[in-house]
Amino acid sequence: MRITALAGGVGGARFLRGLRRHLAQHPTPGSSDEPVSLTVIGNTGDDITLFGLRVCPDIDTLLYTLGGGVHEEQGWGRADETHSLSDELAALGAEPQWFTLGDKDFATHVYRSQLLAQGVPLSQVVARLSERWGLGQQGVTLLPMTDTPVETHVVIDDGGDQRAIHFQEWWVRHRAAVPAKRFVVAGLDRATAGPGVLEAIREADVVLLPPSNPVVSIGIILGVPGVRDALRGTRAPVVGVSPLIDGRPVRGHADVCLQAIGVAATSEAVAGLYADFLDAWLVSPDDPMQSRPGLHVEHRPLLMGSLDAAADLAGAALARATRLGPGRTTA
Ligand code: GDP
Ligand code: CA
Repeated sequence: MRITALAGGVGGARFLRGLRRHLAQHPTPGSSDEPVSLTVIGNTGDDITLFGLRVCPDIDTLLYTLGGGVHEEQGWGRADETHSLSDELAALGAEPQWFTLGDKDFATHVYRSQLLAQGVPLSQVVARLSERWGLGQQGVTLLPMTDTPVETHVVIDDGGDQRAIHFQEWWVRHRAAVPAKRFVVAGLDRATAGPGVLEAIREADVVLLPPSNPVVSIGIILGVPGVRDALRGTRAPVVGVSPLIDGRPVRGHADVCLQAIGVAATSEAVAGLYADFLDAWLVSPDDPMQSRPGLHVEHRPLLMGSLDAAADLAGAALARATRLGPGRTTA
């Protein structure tokens, strides 16, 4: 069975780690007895160049989390990290100082930047980093959504003038507290889907949308030319998990992002962003949303407070997908 998932950073990574745990305990989902392969399409809109190094926050969160090296409480960055390099950069007055990079994490960015400078495409860099983290041994293939450099920018009001700043500056430095007018993804219009990305959607048996940010994680991947059409066209059932509980994101500022694009912070409105390809949607037990023709709504606890809870949630999404089966015969 081929499972394909679209993922941002922490929400996506925790869900997928839960899915791996679930599959380790239930290796043959549904009636299938073939081995399961999981292809993850990662958001690269968060990517940024800092100190001359290319940093891919969401891809690295996926690598570190699935590879067992993540800082558990933070949800991103490396466990047992030190910060000598950034302390020294700060002593030099090097900017920016609002983005935390640990020493081990720096090694990832140095290695990636070295390979990119040699002309190695990002997808191949990610393949090498995936080897380092043992993803292949888990049956996991991580694909960046595109090899074309793209960057999400946020248009803000700056004393009456509109100005675009990098998404990371808005999210990390300003904690999304500066009102956003809109999101612009520099480079996305001329980007092409990364190697294997469209095939992974078209040829999947199951497509899962973890509870990643619908605007700046999943929304960016959906903007890669061809991805949305592939999701509309695939025979695989598409099952998603809401990132909102009681109208609030579990962490981060998805509600602020939704507001900026004029969408209500409800599971129903988020499902509306995926309406053209979504077959089933998992929402929290007290969510008022109900099934309707073409969309099966399932109520269940959505909090991934532990690996077991994440495994239960991912297992429920997968079970729903296998019950729907191929051919999009939903509801
Ligand atoms: P980021 O790139 O690190 O911001 O991570 P993602 O885009 O992958 O995921 C962020 C989203 O995950 C946020 O909107 C959160 O609401 C959601 N999220 C985080 N933890 C949980 C959880 O335990 N359950 C659910 N349902 N959503 C979660
Ligand atoms: Ca992100």
